Amino acid sequence: MLRRSVQVFAATMALSVPLLAGPAALAEEAPAVTITYDDSQATEYTEAITAGIAVWNDHVDNVQINKVEAGQRADVSFVADPGWPRAELGPAMPGDDLTIWFGKQAVDDGYNLTRIASHEFGHSLGLPDAKPGPCSSLMSGSTGGVDCDNAVPNAEEIAAVEENYAGGFKPRQQREVVVVG
Ligand SMILES: [Zn+2]
Repeated sequence: MLRRSVQVFAATMALSVPLLAGPAALAEEAPAVTITYDDSQATEYTEAITAGIAVWNDHVDNVQINKVEAGQRADVSFVADPGWPRAELGPAMPGDDLTIWFGKQAVDDGYNLTRIASHEFGHSLGLPDAKPGPCSSLMSGSTGGVDCDNAVPNAEEIAAVEENYAGGFKPRQQREVVVVG
């Protein structure tokens, strides 16, 4: 009797597993796209970059951003740069090779480092600038004011990123490199 019960239980589990792993469950548990970033060429800004990436991971569901393993290629690379911060426009997809230049000019001017990181990564996620704009807008960038320390995207910016990744992986239509500030 015991063996028979185990067999029935196993059969029930086999039937129920596909239901648990159906599309609805996947949509809630797994992001549509996972991309990677590298900060090995901008180590003086690692703390800000880590915080800026965490902001995005905390606010969007359709894309997950992971730091790449040491020595591995990344879809988005931060590079320390003497100029003004700028980035190649996404939305970054797995296999891409986009760059963010973490510009020292804005650092020296006193702009918030985490806001710089999350703003520039907003470009990697496909968001254009929204200038001029208030501090509450992440993509208003420097026009939010030098004292603006808001590194969190607003509702419209979050919705736009969710839309960019809602369909899962798709090669970017725009293959030319577009650099935005
Ligand atoms: Zn910008």
